[in-house]
Amino acid sequence: QESNPNEGEFQQAVKEVLDSLVPVLVKNPVYIKQAVLERMIEPERLISFRVPWVDDNGNVKVNRGYRVQFNSAIGPYKGGLRFHPSVNASIIKFLGFEQIFKNSLTGQPIGGGKGGSDFDPKGKSDFEIMRFCQSFMTELSKHIGPDTDVPAGDIGVGAREIGYMFGQYKKLRGAYEAGVLTGKGIGYGGSLGRKEATGYGTVYFVDEMLKSKGYSFDGSTVVVSGSGNVSIYAMEKAIQFGAKVVACSDSSGYVYDPNGIQLDTVKRLKEVENKRISEYVKEHAGAIYQEGCSGIWTIPCDIALPCATQNELNKEAAELLVSNGVKAVGEGANMPSTLEAVEIFIENQVLFAPAKAANAGGVAVSALEMAQNSARLAWTQEEVDLKLQQIMKDIYTKSQKAAEEYDAPGNLVVGANIAGFVKVADAMIAQGVI
Ligand code: NDP
Repeated sequence: QESNPNEGEFQQAVKEVLDSLVPVLVKNPVYIKQAVLERMIEPERLISFRVPWVDDNGNVKVNRGYRVQFNSAIGPYKGGLRFHPSVNASIIKFLGFEQIFKNSLTGQPIGGGKGGSDFDPKGKSDFEIMRFCQSFMTELSKHIGPDTDVPAGDIGVGAREIGYMFGQYKKLRGAYEAGVLTGKGIGYGGSLGRKEATGYGTVYFVDEMLKSKGYSFDGSTVVVSGSGNVSIYAMEKAIQFGAKVVACSDSSGYVYDPNGIQLDTVKRLKEVENKRISEYVKEHAGAIYQEGCSGIWTIPCDIALPCATQNELNKEAAELLVSNGVKAVGEGANMPSTLEAVEIFIENQVLFAPAKAANAGGVAVSALEMAQNSARLAWTQEEVDLKLQQIMKDIYTKSQKAAEEYDAPGNLVVGANIAGFVKVADAMIAQGVI
C-alpha cells in the first residue's frame, strides 16, 4: 500500500491474489527467498503519455494514454486497451496485474499487460475517434510489436478503434505486422469467434461449474449486467443453453423483461444504432426500465453474470442476490465484485466463478488470432469455438484441482490464483533475477 498510494483498485486486486497465495508460499519457500511476489507486483514498465487531438470544431484536446507492461515471464505482454473517462494508473495497473494470472491460466504463451486512456468516446464523431486513435498509436507504436506487446480491445475499444490503430501502426512501421493487435476485422487478420469469445467463454466456464453440482443453464433465470461486447455474447450463449435472461443494463440504468430479453433488439440498439438501453422498453410491452444500473441485482435470479465493469456488485447487492436464492455467479467483467461481495458468496456456498478464470476466453482467442497471423492462416468459427470450449474446460479443471490441492475445495478464487501464479513464478525463477 505504501508504494502504491491512492491506487485503490490496484491494491484490491493485489490483496485478493496475496490472500490466496499464503499456502503456496508456506509450501514453497523458494518463492519467498526469490522475492517472486515483490517482483510480480512491480510492473516491468509503466508508460504514460500525452495524446493530443483535434475535435470537429478545430479545438485542440489533450488526453492521457497509458500502457503497463507488467510481466513477460511466459510471453509477450498481452492485454486490452480501455477508453473511458475513469481510466487512471490504478485502474490500468489492476487490470494489468489480473491479466498476468488470467493469461497464464489460458495455457498459452502470453505475458500480462494493459493500457488505455481517459478519453471518453461517448458522443464523439467517427472522425474524432479516428484522430484520437491515430494520435494514441503514434506514441504507443514505440513500445509494442508482435513479439513485444500485443494490445487488444476492452471497454470503449472495439473493432472500429482497433482498425484505426492498426492502420496508423502500419503506416508508421511501413510493414504489415498483422500480429501487433488482436480484435482486428475479419477481412484483415482478425479471428472468427473473437467478438463472441469473452461472453461465450464465461458461459462455458460457468456451465462446467454448474455441472459439478448437477445444475445447468437450461431452465434457469439469468441476470446479466452491461450491454456491451461481453454482456451481449454471454446473453446469447446462456439463451442457446436454454436459460431465460430477464435483465441487462448500461451505465444509465437497467431493463427488466419478465418474458425474456429479446437479444436482437439489444444487439441492434447497442451494436448498430449506438443507443441507450432505455430504448428497449419502447419496443417491448411488459418490459420495465429503471434509472441507475446497480439496482439490477435486486432482480431474483438463479445465475448472475456481472459483465459491465469493476466493483459494480457490492456487499449489499451480494446479500440481496443470496437472499433471493442465487445459485451461481460468474464474472464476465474484470473484478466486478468487491472483496466483501466475494466473501458473502463463498460463505453462503454460492458457486462463484472469478473473472481471471471465467472471462479468460477473450484473451485466449486473441492468442489464437496471433497464432493464425503467424501461420498466415484463418480458422473457421467452429474450429475456434471448439478450441475455446476446451480452453475453458481446462481452466476450470486446473482451478478446481489447485483449490483441492491447497485445502480449499470448491473455492475457485483460490484455485485460479494459485494455478495462474505457479506457472509464472516458476518461469521467473528459471530466468533469474531480472
Ligand atoms: P463494452 O464497452 O463493450 O461494454 C461495457 C458495458 O458496461 C456497457 O454496457 C457500459 O455501459 C457498461 N459500463 C461501462 N462502464 C460502466 C460503469 N462505470 N458503470 C456501469 N456500467 C458501465 O466493454 P466490454 O464488454 O468489452 O467489457 C466489459 C467488461 O469485461 C470490462 O470489465 C472488461 O475489462 C471486461 N473484459 C472484456 C473483454 C473483451 O474481450 N471485451 C475480455 C475480458 C474482460 P455504457 O455503454 O453506458 O458505458
